[in-house]
Amino acid sequence: MTDPLSVLLLQPPAIKPAGPPLGLAVLLGHLRRQGVESQALDANLGAYRYLLNPERLAAMAQPASTTSLRRAIKNIARSWTLLTSPAASRSFARYQTAVQHLNTALSAYRGIDGDERVTLGDYRHGGRSEFTLKTLKQFADAEDSTLFAPYFTQELLPAVVACQPKLIALSINYRHQLLPAFELAGMLRRTLPGVKLVAGGGMLTSWREDLEKPSDPLLPFDHLVFGPGEEALLRLAKEEVDDFFLEGSTCLSFEPDFSGLVPDEYLSPEPVLPVTASRGCYWKECLFCPEAVAPTHIYRSCAPAEVPDLLLNLARQWQVRYFHFTDNALPVPVLRALASRRDELAGMSWYGFVRFEKALTDFQLVDQLSAAGCRMLQLGLESGSQTVLDKLGKGTSVKTASAVLNALHQAGITTYVYVMFGIPDETEADRRATLDFLEEHAETIGYLNLAIMNLPHQSELAAGRRPADENGEQKATGGLYLTGAAEQQRRGEARRFIQQELLASPAIRTIVNRTPPLFTSDHAFFFDKPDR
Ligand code: SF4
Repeated sequence: MTDPLSVLLLQPPAIKPAGPPLGLAVLLGHLRRQGVESQALDANLGAYRYLLNPERLAAMAQPASTTSLRRAIKNIARSWTLLTSPAASRSFARYQTAVQHLNTALSAYRGIDGDERVTLGDYRHGGRSEFTLKTLKQFADAEDSTLFAPYFTQELLPAVVACQPKLIALSINYRHQLLPAFELAGMLRRTLPGVKLVAGGGMLTSWREDLEKPSDPLLPFDHLVFGPGEEALLRLAKEEVDDFFLEGSTCLSFEPDFSGLVPDEYLSPEPVLPVTASRGCYWKECLFCPEAVAPTHIYRSCAPAEVPDLLLNLARQWQVRYFHFTDNALPVPVLRALASRRDELAGMSWYGFVRFEKALTDFQLVDQLSAAGCRMLQLGLESGSQTVLDKLGKGTSVKTASAVLNALHQAGITTYVYVMFGIPDETEADRRATLDFLEEHAETIGYLNLAIMNLPHQSELAAGRRPADENGEQKATGGLYLTGAAEQQRRGEARRFIQQELLASPAIRTIVNRTPPLFTSDHAFFFDKPDR
């Protein structure tokens, strides 16, 4: 008989299965170093493997299925193999086709009522709002179900039962995980009534205000953790606390343990390990950003000098060369530390978010970063209008952004630039300034993310914009962001500008068209750098 496990960490579907989940790996590392018997299980990857099983899909194919679905199902094994091999990055056309096949094959799953939709990046369930507690409770109580239910009952639950955990912690970081996570939690509660169930993660922390309101405890969980879970889980594992709501720790861990989260099983041309040098954001001033208006983490950075060692140790331990820094913004001292160890880091490839810092206009520093393995940097430009940037509290200038893009381009570091439209009070002239900036810098921009701004309820920018009749239930249905007629109009105008004006620009369309479908930034750094 196997020894009972103390803690089982679970990641529920549905998010992109592009790499092991860092949250689970960090918690696992922390618990194991403290002597707590623990294990991590990525039920998100498990669910995609289950749904994309060739035999299961072939059995589901109907004579009435569309030609594209039948073709996708026929190509499923080949597409999965391609997307988990370096060959995927050698031909963008073959890569695109394989992604499309997997995504089309997933469309075979529609759920019991035919109104569910799962893709390689998200999951929707007809008219159900994941931001309504009553709905979540219905899924937990088995009054409603998701298309993941067969995977949960046939594969996941037996695997969990075999682990004999005393405590199970679900990590919920994205809205598309909410319905499946609550359904799974209900199943776990009924199957293992004596086991403590804990939920935590960025999604629940951002939603804290609403979750703390109900007088009923949020069944089926025994505990909810807001913020970083290291200390709370450790104390729960040691049975030192029994409160329903637990505060996250101030003592943070930066050393992940990927045991059980096999890096080369994920859909990625090469195995990529996520890693972070900081939690929270060191800037924290952008008025539209959840990290600023409702931070899920207090800001902490690990000692910059330790970051190159972290990469080198992980590379050795897991035999990987590719890393994704998941920091909201890599701090400049960390970038300098990486640059200073470029000889040891040569041969690695990594990418992550940075701010448009003046330091990145220094040609020597960016050259050294390139030599240290920096392949791609993600940068939030948001707007090409200085007026808008100042209003948003971005703390950057259009001039610096231009100089940074040029320096990175010279150094051979690909850029992934994020812009937003639909910013409150944004004028036609502001939007046009963004378009002009992108066209002028098209040569230096590798990839582009075009978004329409979601305005968090707590943002200063939302003051005076909340619909007068928005009651608690409507607010909960809308989730973390403002809804209502004025919002819809703002978003509609932004959509029109993107479709009719921005994408009418051949230079901008070229950049948008080379973005890897669905996996976007997760896979962008595998493809050839834009012409330079
Ligand atoms: S720098 Fe990025 S993470 Fe930080 S507050 Fe601004 S948008 Fe948010």
